[in-house]
Amino acid sequence: MNAQRVESLIRELLVEIGEDPNREGLQRTPLRVAKAYEFLTSGYRRSPEEVINGAVFASEANNMVIARDIEVYSLCEHHLLPFFGRCHVGYIAQKHVIGVSKLARIVDLLARRLQIQERLTAQIARHVMDAVDAEGVGVVMECRHLCMMMRGVEKQNSVMTTSSVLGSFHRDPATRTEFMALIDRTVAK
Ligand code: ZN
Repeated sequence: MNAQRVESLIRELLVEIGEDPNREGLQRTPLRVAKAYEFLTSGYRRSPEEVINGAVFASEANNMVIARDIEVYSLCEHHLLPFFGRCHVGYIAQKHVIGVSKLARIVDLLARRLQIQERLTAQIARHVMDAVDAEGVGVVMECRHLCMMMRGVEKQNSVMTTSSVLGSFHRDPATRTEFMALIDRTVAK
């Protein structure tokens, strides 16, 4: 990312919205915004393989593994406004498991791109499936969207829920039911 170019674009944006980019409080704002965007879009400059970094381990067990309440912060691609909430990831291993912190890192990496919640949910499921060659994967995400809360329909309390199921979670209703029951205790009511 060319930080200087981003800074000058932000300075122009400040002018266009009716601000004076030279007033004291705004002088360093373009620099700060450039740094913030560098971080918030860092998912374009890293690969999932890089974050997983070999933390896949052999395992005989084929029970369901669930990581609940992984915090998600992303930017909607329609308005560049944040959407944020929680994500629950479950999978059934065949021969490999992945370090649980790596599940959170996969979520972070994919969330630090411009997203829509539906696609983010599906991408997380796909990457977990591929990383451990799982028998099946389920992902449920519940997020609030600032583009809905601060503008548009101005619905401050609505939570959007999306899910993506692959493999046995897709094929087998009992597996899906077990997953939903296990995460249900934490799903926002
Ligand atoms: Zn939006």
